[in-house]
Amino acid sequence: MTDYPRLLEPLDLGFTTLKNRVLMGSMHTGLEETKDWDRVATFYAERAEGGVGLMVTGGMAPNREGGVFPGAAGLFSDEDIANHRMVTDRVHGAGGKIAMQILHAGRYAYGPECVAPSPIKSPISPLPPKELDEDGIEKQIADIATAALRARDAGYDGVEVMGSEGYFLNQFLVEHTNRRTDRWGGSVENRQRLPVEVVRRVRAAVGDDFIVIYRLSMIDLIPKGQTWEEVVSLARKIEAAGATILNTGIGWHEARIPTIATSVPRRAFTWVTQKLMGDVSIPVITSNRINTPDVAEQVLADGCADMVSMARPFLADSHFVQKAAEGRAGDIAPCIACNQACLDHTFGGKISSCLVNPRACHETELRYDLAANAKHVAVVGAGAAGVTVAMVAAQRGHRVTLWDKAGRVGGQLNMAKVIPGKEEFVGLIDWMERMVDHPAIELRLGKAPGIDDLRGADEVVIATGVAPRDPGIEGQDGANVVSYIDVLRDKVDVGPRVAIVGAGGIGFDTAEFLSHGGGATTTEDLDAWLVEWGVADPETHRGGLVPEGPRPARAARQITLLQRKNEKLGKRLGKTTGWIHRAALAMKDVKMVPGVNYERITREGLQVSFGEGRERPTMIEADTVVLCAGQVPERSLADALGAEGITCHVIGGADVAAELDAKRAIDQGARLAATL
Ligand code: NAP
Ligand code: SF4
Repeated sequence: MTDYPRLLEPLDLGFTTLKNRVLMGSMHTGLEETKDWDRVATFYAERAEGGVGLMVTGGMAPNREGGVFPGAAGLFSDEDIANHRMVTDRVHGAGGKIAMQILHAGRYAYGPECVAPSPIKSPISPLPPKELDEDGIEKQIADIATAALRARDAGYDGVEVMGSEGYFLNQFLVEHTNRRTDRWGGSVENRQRLPVEVVRRVRAAVGDDFIVIYRLSMIDLIPKGQTWEEVVSLARKIEAAGATILNTGIGWHEARIPTIATSVPRRAFTWVTQKLMGDVSIPVITSNRINTPDVAEQVLADGCADMVSMARPFLADSHFVQKAAEGRAGDIAPCIACNQACLDHTFGGKISSCLVNPRACHETELRYDLAANAKHVAVVGAGAAGVTVAMVAAQRGHRVTLWDKAGRVGGQLNMAKVIPGKEEFVGLIDWMERMVDHPAIELRLGKAPGIDDLRGADEVVIATGVAPRDPGIEGQDGANVVSYIDVLRDKVDVGPRVAIVGAGGIGFDTAEFLSHGGGATTTEDLDAWLVEWGVADPETHRGGLVPEGPRPARAARQITLLQRKNEKLGKRLGKTTGWIHRAALAMKDVKMVPGVNYERITREGLQVSFGEGRERPTMIEADTVVLCAGQVPERSLADALGAEGITCHVIGGADVAAELDAKRAIDQGARLAATL
């Protein structure tokens, strides 16, 4: 008897059957652009082996003008077909099924050839699109249908036609981007003509026994988005045009509502998909912020969908479904929805990976093979870096002793987990605890090892982390001055007016923590989160946006966040999440002050000045000043070992504290452990 009877139930599509109700949603990983097709095939084959019912590839352009960026992967030639066949053969060999996503970016394309229904530049694109004429529209339809046929020739089990997130087909549906007066614009019927015609022509091209998924934008989250009536009528027309399955799209890329970030409540939008259930007779898939088998099972039990899409969770763990089916859900490496190694990489032009699983998209090069010689590995520090070394070394057959002076594993992650909106870190630490509960790992918590404790080990790894940087501000020894550790770990009292020195990731996190008054966070309370961000039922409000906009709760404190650099605060936070952190603090009226010199701290607060001439002396009145001025490596043990002539590997924050984050620490730990 399984804990997940609905999730693991096969789905009969008539001409073929999916072995369970789990879809690996489309992700742009950058792998296809490497042209290393063995690497691409290995990525998908590992996930097929892991038991997922159906996978969708990253978006493939149907033609040059539709590519997200110049050189974006597509299926343009017979040579491409042969390359893609390597992928489909490996997936089928592993017992899986795979559909290719056809993605036409329209005005979201970064290239000079981009095309759209109307010449309206998007706020997130560098160039205005060219307005298509009748022949141009016919070419796009024909190219999409040809891409679908090529996908069939390449051995795919189906295609997903990308009709959501504000891409090309979505752009025809709303007046926001479609100002046409011909048969492709104006009335609802005209605006819906293109997506419906595309599905009809794709079906005609590929025949009856081929999966055609249509990803339909169910809540646009932009001004002048679709009404719910329009969404339902489009869904029915797409079904009639020949789609096999409808997948859910949530929000356009230019929407100012977070839709997949970690602060978004789990399954925050499954209620939107549920509204469509019963209006069409083909299976419907739901998506967004579903990251555990329990949540996925509950979504199906609640009747929100026939199938569940998860994307990033398959970067974190390729064997998500198999582990769930074997009753080992606790072993699944959790996706914490941080975007740090996946989407932030994609938007930075780098190949995706995963903060929790550095092997993701690097399967051929980062391997955890059994070690030729089993060794005794001593690891000092059970934070992200140290735990990763211990886990991977044990997996490779080594014997590990893992020390930490703290009473539990997780290191600095234990501070991240108390930040409102970062609740997923709790699950990450729980998983790490479970992973180091391994027969080959001896865990010694609450004790710092001496040099003699480490002397006999074959390999010594120092992952002792960081210590807070001393900013050396006059008056910082006062009773009204605390560090972020005092606030986040030791929960000291903080007054109603706060000045925060330093606006890096931890300064922002501390501001978020202090602006919250305690109790449940909006990440744990979907109704409150929807109100906070101004999201409404699309049945009552076009596009799902309330006209008044976000309505956040009052901040618990009056906070000023400061930095010395004269640039926008939070500029260096994650590419895809920095704007959310800035918007969240702006909603809490946090005052952001760049370009300061810290003069002194007094009982009244923090005295600052501006510019090289130390002009405009200003007192930031505050009951408490919190120091978040970055960190320095904690390597006293490494230095002491060096003095004794004992060789050790220094990793994580103990190696380099600047720009330290869990992504780099875990990656460094995994790569070291793979070579021991
Ligand atoms: P950080 O990102 O390096 O920021 C340190 C802050 O302190 C900066 O605002 C810096 O700005 C200021 N600072 C540096 N030296 C100073 C000095 N001598 N006196 C006064 N201010 C000084 O470090 P962090 O905030 O401690 O975060 C550590 C790492 O954790 C980050 O790099 C990040 O990767 C990770 N993290 C990320 C997040 C996130 O992205 N959400 C959250 C938490 C932690 P000025 O030099 O301009 O004053
Ligand atoms: Fe999930 Fe973060 Fe990994 Fe991306 S990097 S898959 S969001 S855990």
